[in-house]
Amino acid sequence: MQDMFTKESFQCNRYCGECCKKLSVMVSREDIRNITKLGHKKEDFLDEDLLSINKFMLKRDKNGCIFLKQHKDGKYSCGIHKNRPKTCRQYPFFGKEKAIGSCLPQDMFPNVFFKFENSKAIK
Ligand code: SF4
Ligand code: SF4
Repeated sequence: MQDMFTKESFQCNRYCGECCKKLSVMVSREDIRNITKLGHKKEDFLDEDLLSINKFMLKRDKNGCIFLKQHKDGKYSCGIHKNRPKTCRQYPFFGKEKAIGSCLPQDMFPNVFFKFENSKAIK
């Protein structure tokens, strides 16, 4: 049987960066304030959410979130770890889940990634 993680027992110990590579992060005003405190300019790290007025997402590039760093050993870490957005601090628990079997985005949101992979295959 697959091991299950709870909010209390979960620890990211793979540092694979899959969550930061594949998921977009919406930020609150407080998140924005916390990131600007580190010296980052808003225009350098924010993108408008095209689906909602006055909502912002963290900028992404071809590797995922712009704050994601890859180290020499191949592991990933967050370049703003202490001031990262609330969504990132909560990941992979967003409230209701009691326990999960995997923190990989493709396991947590299979419908999204199934569609995404299929749309790539069609092109
Ligand atoms: S997908 Fe899971 S194991 Fe990989 S970096 Fe994110 S939280 Fe850690
Ligand atoms: S801010 Fe940090 S934890 Fe959040 S998606 Fe970007 S790299 Fe990952």
